[in-house]
This record gives sequence, structure tokens and C-alpha cells, in this order.
Amino acid sequence: MANEVMMQSFEWDTDGSGDFYKKLKKDAKTLKENGIDGLWLPPMTKGGSDMDVGYGVYDLWDLGEFDQKGTIRTKYGTKEELLDAIDSLKKAGIKCYADVVLNHKGNADFKEEFKAVMVDQNNREQDVSGEMDIEAWTGFDFKGRAGKYSDMVWHYYHFSGVDYDVKSDTSAIFRILGDGKYWDEDVSGEKGNFDYLMNCDIDHDHPEVREEIFKWVDWFIDETKVDGFRYDALKHISSNFIHDLSDHIINEKGEENFYLFGEFWQHNKEEIAKYLETTDYNIDLFDVPLHFHMQEASKSMGNYDMRKIFDNTIVADFPAQAVTFVDNHDSQPGQSLDSWVEDWFKEIAYAMILFRKDGYPCIFAGDYYGLIGEVKTEAKYDLINNMLKVRKNYNYGEEDNYFDDPSVIGWVRRGDEDHKPLAVLISIKDMAEKQMFVGESEAGATYVDLSGKNEDITIDENGNGVFTVGPGAVTYWANKESL
Ligand code: CA
Repeated sequence: MANEVMMQSFEWDTDGSGDFYKKLKKDAKTLKENGIDGLWLPPMTKGGSDMDVGYGVYDLWDLGEFDQKGTIRTKYGTKEELLDAIDSLKKAGIKCYADVVLNHKGNADFKEEFKAVMVDQNNREQDVSGEMDIEAWTGFDFKGRAGKYSDMVWHYYHFSGVDYDVKSDTSAIFRILGDGKYWDEDVSGEKGNFDYLMNCDIDHDHPEVREEIFKWVDWFIDETKVDGFRYDALKHISSNFIHDLSDHIINEKGEENFYLFGEFWQHNKEEIAKYLETTDYNIDLFDVPLHFHMQEASKSMGNYDMRKIFDNTIVADFPAQAVTFVDNHDSQPGQSLDSWVEDWFKEIAYAMILFRKDGYPCIFAGDYYGLIGEVKTEAKYDLINNMLKVRKNYNYGEEDNYFDDPSVIGWVRRGDEDHKPLAVLISIKDMAEKQMFVGESEAGATYVDLSGKNEDITIDENGNGVFTVGPGAVTYWANKESL
């Protein structure tokens, strides 16, 4: 299906009363009618409490089924409600993608003593202590699950690092020692070696860990019937492990159409290229460079050079691998990767992901419904729904760019046999106009601004239109007869 769009269904402060899955089930048909074809669901696994957003994974096998960490349900509901929601979403024609957190585990059941060294926070290749005996929360026996689905008990040797020694009451990064044990080498080189992110860092080299996670994905996919994975924290996980796991899902398990994409929070082009290659181009990546360009432009007081906004982005360099997005649960105000795109720029940003030829756009629930935590924002529900309609009706054919002015850029999707053209114009500074060619067959046609801001214009006898915009706005235009 052409022009598919996915949505990240949650933000950091999404309501935690346990009704989330029930609400998804109820909303399934409406979401599809609004133009949402795929939904990135929050982590389904049990975390530290019924308020855990899902990234403090405690038990991969508990999807809201067992009484563990003081709760049966997760923040979002019970396993039964989850499966019910997925069933309804799929029946409505929406693909469901699971957020899969494999870098770490937290909220352990018991403490263990073992040998470790303290490393430099900013260079994890550098030890700053000798071998020491530490005590840390690294034991997981999942008593509430009592061995159902898997009887693996996790111990310190299944992990490569922790960040707290109970014995000396010290918070620091400790590398766990053992025969041939070290950080995973094929991870981001930031901070020397960025294997360690948080909690108990899973050692993906350990054969028991590998076996357990491979077994878990088979079970998880069969159990939930999801259509894909959004891998969390990829730059902190062995890329060879992710390669093997993805290869297993697609080739051994035979899920040929399973959609894999991930968070590789990185804007270095070489690192992105290397990652895509290492994982056999099986994994699409969020366009992090484009997100940062949007944020920078939104904070530039109109001084960003818009001609360069797509330079060195994933959608420009690897168009078939790009999941384009504006913001997410980490980039929202106050979160770990806080890099929020300013409000006035949001419609411009959404035009840049929804009205382009390339990229699988991902809408953020925090924009769609508005943020509801400490920082509140207005819902852009009607605005985005209108843009989704424009995408479905007009975003087809060749793409002609008019990137000839630092503050005013435009482009035309030329349409195809079944669809009329779409002209898009952005000005981040003053009121502006730009002549763009929509097609000879459009001569004499009236074009209407679907963003509802400006007066109709007439296409001249050569197929050119002089489109208007601004200040600090986007307009999008189509043939009035085709509405
Ligand atoms: Ca790691």
C-alpha cells in the first residue's frame, strides 16, 4: 500500500491507569480511518512497577500476566488486554510493532557478590580501580512466574556491567570480570566503548543469554503476533548479535515480512552506513540527523539554511532505510535525549516527513494528542489528520525540489496517472512566494491551499504557479477540482 504512515502510540507520560490497551482496541478503527497504518506499541514486558514506561525491563516473559514487582498488569494493561488490542488493531488493518528492549535488565530479585573493576565514566576502556569485590543487584529468579515459559535464572555472569556497588555504597560504572569477559566490542565507540547504558547490562556474548533471547523472540512473536520490532538502544548492543537475531527472525523463523527498525541515536554518516551494512540492511533506522536538523532550524529564529536540511540525513543517503520522525518519548522536554522541535516548526516538520517521496514517517502521540505530563502541549490531532489525508490523496510521483533560498524552500510531487500534483512551500522567515511547475496539464487550474492559510491561485498557461507562504509557515496546494 502506498504512502503508509506509522505512529508511536505513546509518550513518556502516557496515562498509566492501566487502560491504554483497552483504549487502543476502542480506537483501532478510527486510527485506521485517520490514516495510521502501523503502530509502535510501548515495551510490553514487565518493568519495575505498574508505572514503569517499559524501559526498566525486569522480565521478558511477563507481558502483564504474573504477579511480579507488585503488579500483574504493566503500565498499559494486562497481557489479555494486550493480545485483544493487537487483534483489533490488526483486524482494522493496522500493523503492530513491539518495542523490544534487549540492552539491559533492571529491578533484580536478589544481590550477588562478584569481582569487577571500576571504569572511567567518560572512557569505559579505562579502568580506574584494581580488581575489587562488589555486591550488586544482578540476580533474577522471577518467583512470581515460577518457571513458566522459561526456567532461566539470571546471574551476574550474564551481564557485563552494573552501576552500583551495595557494599561500598558507590555509584559508578563497574565492568564485571570473568574468563574472557569484556564489554561487547561491536557497539558505539562513544565514551571509549558505549556498551553500558543503564541497569544490568546484558552480555550478549554469553551462550546462555543468546539461547534465551533467541528462544524468547520465537515465543514472543508467536504469542503476540506482532508485525515487527522497534529495537531499543541499538548503539549499546552488539551489532553482530542484532544481525544474528534479525537473521534468525527473517530466515530461520521464516517471518519474511517482519518489519525491523531501530533506535540508533547517532548522526555520524559513516557510523550509520556501517551499522546498516553490518545488519545486512535488514533494519531500518530512525532518521536522527533529520530530527536534529529540524530542532536546530526550529531554534534558529529563521536563520537556518533550509537548503541543507536534508543533507547527511538517512532519508537522503539511505532512502529505503529511513523512518522519518519529528519527536519521540526521549526527545520530549525533560527526557534523556531532550531535543524538542519548537511548536511553530511542527507543521513544517510534519510536511517534511509526510509530503516527501522517501521515508516511512512516524507520527508521535505526544504531538497528535499533545503532551500531558509536566510540560503540556496542545493536541495537533486535526492538523495531522488533515495532513495524513493530503498525503494519501496527493503524495505521489516525481519530486521536484526548489531549494534555492536559505529561508524559503519548496517542492512539487508531480502526481501520477491516478493522482493530481501537490505543491509544498515553506518559509522559516518572512512572507514569501515562489514559482513552481506543477505540470502542463494543470494550465488554468485553480490551486487551493490545503493548509487553509492562503487564497486560491491560478496555474498559468505553462503549468507554473506562484505559491505563497509565511512568515514561519508551510502551505500545501492541490488542484481544487480534485478535492
Ligand atoms: Ca549493552
